[in-house]
Amino acid sequence: MDKPFAITLDVGSSLANKTGTWRTERPVYLNSLPPCNDACPAGENIQGWLYDAEEGRYQDAWRMLVRDNPFPAIMGRVCYHPCQTACNRAQLDQPVGINSVERFLGDAALTDGWAFDPIATATGKRVLVIGAGPSGLSAAYHLRRLGHDVVIRDAGPKAGGMMRFGIPAYRLPRDVLDAEIKRILDLGVELELNTRVDDVAQAKAAGDFDAVFLAVGAHIGKRAYIPAGESAHILDAVGLLRDMEGEDKPLLGRRVVVYGGGNTAMDAARTAKRLGAQEAIIVYRRTRDRMPAHDIEVEEALEEGILMRWLSTIKHVDAGHITVERMELDDTGFPQPTGETEDLAADSLVLALGQEVDLSLLDEVPGLSVTDGVVDVNQQMMTGAEGIFAGGDMVPSERTVTVAIGHGKQAARNIDAWLRSEAFEHPDRPPLATFDRLNTWYYSDADKTVRPTLDLARRLDSFDEVKGGLDESTALFEARRCLSCGNCFGCDNCFGVCPDNAVLKLSSGSGEGDNGRDYAFDLDYCKGCGICVTECPSGAILMLPEQT
Ligand SMILES: Cc1cc2nc3c(=O)[nH]c(=O)nc-3n(C[C@H](O)[C@H](O)[C@H](O)COP(=O)(O)OP(=O)(O)OC[C@H]3O[C@@H](n4cnc5c(N)ncnc54)[C@H](O)[C@@H]3O)c2cc1C
Ligand code: SF4
Ligand code: SF4
Repeated sequence: MDKPFAITLDVGSSLANKTGTWRTERPVYLNSLPPCNDACPAGENIQGWLYDAEEGRYQDAWRMLVRDNPFPAIMGRVCYHPCQTACNRAQLDQPVGINSVERFLGDAALTDGWAFDPIATATGKRVLVIGAGPSGLSAAYHLRRLGHDVVIRDAGPKAGGMMRFGIPAYRLPRDVLDAEIKRILDLGVELELNTRVDDVAQAKAAGDFDAVFLAVGAHIGKRAYIPAGESAHILDAVGLLRDMEGEDKPLLGRRVVVYGGGNTAMDAARTAKRLGAQEAIIVYRRTRDRMPAHDIEVEEALEEGILMRWLSTIKHVDAGHITVERMELDDTGFPQPTGETEDLAADSLVLALGQEVDLSLLDEVPGLSVTDGVVDVNQQMMTGAEGIFAGGDMVPSERTVTVAIGHGKQAARNIDAWLRSEAFEHPDRPPLATFDRLNTWYYSDADKTVRPTLDLARRLDSFDEVKGGLDESTALFEARRCLSCGNCFGCDNCFGVCPDNAVLKLSSGSGEGDNGRDYAFDLDYCKGCGICVTECPSGAILMLPEQT
């Protein structure tokens, strides 16, 4: 096979001898868990779809990807790609640009109109999903594919949750969002908009639903007590970003201060700039390294001229200005007031201090428990109330689109099993393919492909998308940088180096060999020398002691 970044050996033709009984170890082909797959919150088989992509089989790659996650074009734009943080290639040069390839596949599917595989036979079971954000939509998609009837109810005028009413269009264009949502609805998922659910138990009984998945997110902007003059203009970031989707855009003035250090603060400040503010300042009480915002978001905000004021809190707000106090970190790293204050000119103050969950719809649900403002769920994503499951921002976990999508998938599988009075069985977790298992000598250097970025001048006066995508040649290059950690990718090295011709090569893609691979060891000939293990680039073979 043609894999440009792996150097493979020519197949040898040594004379083979039957072994006899003196071999002490035998080689086995492994099924390992690549670290990228392990780190993806949506549970994607990244190595699997990269393998198809690097062979140019883009639709096959997309089909494998959407088995786990129906939103590749969205992921390729907003996921913080923990897969790349875990990627072994980072220890060689730079991580594989998994997220860029994912976006390429997602966009190709939209351009070419690829549809999801047909759904399973109807089960006759009805599931109510409350909330059409990423978690609810993901659960609806998986449940529908499993053959269930699904109704989604959402309080808002459009589906998407925070993907639409939080993440700005310059990071996630709305035509991409609309198209990936539509593809889910086309499976026959019913969507009822402008339909707020106020009482879950009543909605379940009235609609004759067999199970419910709650995914209402966290929408209430946290407030802090800040003394303010009567005409001070204070608004919350989530409200500001939500209003961006309406007809009337928010009026912020020329100088805007945003209070907070998370991703929402970055989006609010960058939005303020695009709305015409000459100055947007982020005020945060700790230092940059302690900011909860992702590095890339801080970088992009700085590039756009957002000013950052670290180690500062807001003491007072008035019309036209705010008073900030300088903080300093104590021995434990906690910010302490210094008493030193300063005035900043500000026409409006935007609070970006996090969000809380509106739990009022759960008042009448017996058995359901709440800790620290989020709903408790068990391993099956079920709340304390039988048949009512929950996921996304409203349960205890990291708050990201991808985690919410992963919860939707997990919940759907568990709901499906529960509806059949069974328990969903997780497959056994294979061993992790760590970097030390690789023979990196075989892989040549290949720097990561950089995505195109919109010119700064155009970024500041429009909501056009900032990051571009890869084209086919760069996507292919990027996919081929994958090292196939811990699993066979058919390079023929073992077949070529074995001095005893003990490696049998079966027809390509047959999976008829050992452990579902295309190769098998002929143990009548194998001496247990281990050269195949030494020369396997991806660490896909292990020597195991012979049973005595
Ligand atoms: C400004 C901002 C930017 C972000 N950027 C990113 C990013 O770049 N990448 C990333 O991974 N994450 C990002 N996040 C986080 C991410 O958006 C959330 O973690 C994710 O959307 C949570 O999904 P969810 O489905 O749980 O809830 P949501 O997306 O909040 O959706 C919940 C839905 O439930 C509906 N609903 C609420 N109450 C009711 C009710 N009673 N009845 C019916 N419907 C109801 C709402 O209308 C909404 O549509 C961002 C968040 C914000 C606020
Ligand atoms: S969804 Fe995120 S973590 Fe998963 S493969 Fe895509 S970029 Fe990586
Ligand atoms: S090199 Fe490939 S298989 Fe290995 S962690 Fe990176 S993307 Fe995954």
